[in-house]
Amino acid sequence: MTALPASAAAVGPGSAADAEMAARDPSTSLAVSGIDKSFGGIQALTDCSLAVRKGSITALIGPNGSGKTTLFNCITGFYEPDRGRVYVRGVPITGRRPSDIVHLGVMRTFQVTRIFRRMTVLENMIVPVRQLTLRALFTAAIKGHERDRAEALLEFVGLQDLRHEQAGSLSFGQQKLLELGAALMAEPEIVLLDEPAGGLNPVMIEKIAGYVRELNGRGVTFLIIEHNMGFVMNLCDPVIVMHRGTVIAQGSPAAVREDPIVLDAYLGD
Ligand code: ADP
Ligand code: MG
Repeated sequence: MTALPASAAAVGPGSAADAEMAARDPSTSLAVSGIDKSFGGIQALTDCSLAVRKGSITALIGPNGSGKTTLFNCITGFYEPDRGRVYVRGVPITGRRPSDIVHLGVMRTFQVTRIFRRMTVLENMIVPVRQLTLRALFTAAIKGHERDRAEALLEFVGLQDLRHEQAGSLSFGQQKLLELGAALMAEPEIVLLDEPAGGLNPVMIEKIAGYVRELNGRGVTFLIIEHNMGFVMNLCDPVIVMHRGTVIAQGSPAAVREDPIVLDAYLGD
C-alpha cells in the first residue's frame, strides 16, 4: 500500500516519527509512538506506533497474539510500556493511572467482559468510570447526575427494563451491551472496544454495529479490535493491521483486504 486512500488516517503504518507528528495534529484523537512491552521473555509489542483520526471508527486487526489487547492495556494505563509514548488530543498520558486516563477521555471494554455479577445492572454502570474495586463498589451510591446519565445510557442500549436485575442474570450479549453503555459514562473522547462482536449472534452484532455508528455520528471516536471481518469491513475505516507486536499495514478496508503483506501475516500464523 504505497498510495493510501484519502480516507486513511494521516500516518503511514508503523512509524514512530509519523505518530509523533500526528500527535501534534488537532485532527488526531489518539497517537501511540514507539511502544515496546515485554513480559519476561515474551516481547508482546515492538516499536508499535499508530494514530487514530478524530471522528473515525478505526479497526485494529491482526492474528491472535499479535499484541492488540496488550496495546489497549498500554493505552489505558493497565500496563506501563517499557518504552514509547501515548497521546490523547496531543496530551501525553503514558504511565498515568487508569483512573486518570478515563478522565482524560479514554474508555474501554474488555475482551472478556468485566461485570460484577452480584451487583445490579445500574450499579455496574459506574464501575469503569470510577475504576472501582469490588469493595469500593459496595459503598458507592449512584445518584444525581450520574444516575440520570446511567439510566439514559441503559435506555440507549436497550437495558433500561433490566436495570434492577443482577448483572449475572444477563445473557452474554446483554453483558456486552452493558459494558458498551458503561464505557460511555464519562463522555469519552475515544472508546476502545476489544472484540465487541466476539461470541455474539448476527442479530446482536448488527445491534452493536448500529450503536457504534450512532455514537460515532454524535462525535465519539472508536478504535475497535475485532476478528469478525464483516463487522470490520462494514463499519470501520481505516483498518490498522498488527503482526508480531507492531503495525504492518493500514488503509481502507478494501485496500487492507487485498494487501499481500496482510494476507501473509494471517496465513503464516
Ligand atoms: P492479541 O490481543 O492480539 O491476541 P495479546 O496482546 O493478548 O494479543 O498478546 C500478545 C502476546 O503477549 C502473546 O504472546 C501473549 O501471550 C502475551 N501476553 C499478553 N499479556 C500477557 C501477560 N499479562 N503476561 C504474559 N504474557 C502476556
Ligand atoms: Mg486480544
